[in-house]
Amino acid sequence: MKFIDLGLDPRILEGIDSMGYENATPVQEQVMVPVLEGKDIIAAAQTGTGKTAAFLLPLLHRLITSPHTAGDINAMVIVPTRELAIQIAESIEGLSYFTDVSSIAVYGGGDGDSFITEKKALSTGVDIVVCTPGRMIAHLNMGYVKLKGLKYLVLDEADRMLDMGFNEDITKIITFLPKERQNLLFSATMPAKMRVLAKKILHEPVEINIAISKAPEQIVQKAFVVFEVQKVAIIKDMLRSNNYSKVVVFCSKKQSVKQLTAELKRAKLAAEEIHSDLDQKSREQYLQDFRNNKVTILVATDILSRGIDIDDIDLVINYDVPNDGEDYIHRIGRTARAATSGTAFTLISEKEQSKFSDIEELLGAPVLKGNVPEEFGPTPNYAPRQKKQGNFKRGR
Ligand code: AMP
Repeated sequence: MKFIDLGLDPRILEGIDSMGYENATPVQEQVMVPVLEGKDIIAAAQTGTGKTAAFLLPLLHRLITSPHTAGDINAMVIVPTRELAIQIAESIEGLSYFTDVSSIAVYGGGDGDSFITEKKALSTGVDIVVCTPGRMIAHLNMGYVKLKGLKYLVLDEADRMLDMGFNEDITKIITFLPKERQNLLFSATMPAKMRVLAKKILHEPVEINIAISKAPEQIVQKAFVVFEVQKVAIIKDMLRSNNYSKVVVFCSKKQSVKQLTAELKRAKLAAEEIHSDLDQKSREQYLQDFRNNKVTILVATDILSRGIDIDDIDLVINYDVPNDGEDYIHRIGRTARAATSGTAFTLISEKEQSKFSDIEELLGAPVLKGNVPEEFGPTPNYAPRQKKQGNFKRGR
């Protein structure tokens, strides 16, 4: 479907053009029509499907073509992480470039100056606010946030917000909003607790379901069955012996991120780390350096696994097996964004075998197991459902 067929305002079509989008993605096709009609929606959609533009484009269209409350906040987009807030604000900037829509990202972790800038925008009015829940509450508690004219509420990555314990914050934010408004809820998964939240927020929503827990086909997946102690050396070897231009290595624990980054730096590899102990400025700087190819390897916790939009990542390495299939798909989905190809490697230790086999079940097929070069010594067998006793072999 062409964007022009949706009747979007020409200023928005210009924005779409400048972003280089030609046709609407399937999520966009399904989401944009009901949103343009003013309906509430609940959409199960993964990142990487074009869902950000799916809600931003009709929102922008409605903002610029219907009565506008100047000096007020017209739309609020609530997201789980600062990185996602910044990224959505950037998308708004691009797509609304030819309109006069104003927007701001409001998130924690910045300095005092950013709080003052946010306060100014929230108290004098801005068309779209993209915010993390905790920071928004901090502003709301001070009493100056102009919300009387708010007409649109978007919850993005809602399952992630519930996982992070933001349920109460979201419920509280909603008590500050006018009752008459259009609500859009996006979530990669739809656990039971999401239904409860949706019931509280949405009014006769249109249900859209495009989330299939499926890894994009253009990603080449490979897993390596190893002993925990072999992981660092194998990763170093993978990074050294291939010419990857942008690599993300995911670790479940901050401590592993820190240790692995230190090891990679010691091996003279251009690596940096992203995790929640790092101040906001450094996180943004490293992401920027990664985008600009100053840093070629980002070692990160799952903080980076959703929604982060860097197009040309050619390799994702799972230093450890993610907790579940959805997390696995989110992590590997950082590569092969928007139809390019990519590779995803997962290192599976003895203890992680059954977790990985659960993921394979969700994927519907086993992931190809790669050979570990002999120089790394014997490796375990892949026997996730058996008791693992001395079942290792050499040089597969
Ligand atoms: P998202 O799922 O919102 O994170 O988007 C994933 C990627 O697809 C981003 O790089 C978007 O800029 C890109 N994208 C979104 N919509 C389109 C489209 N209609 N055509 C091509 N690329 C798109």
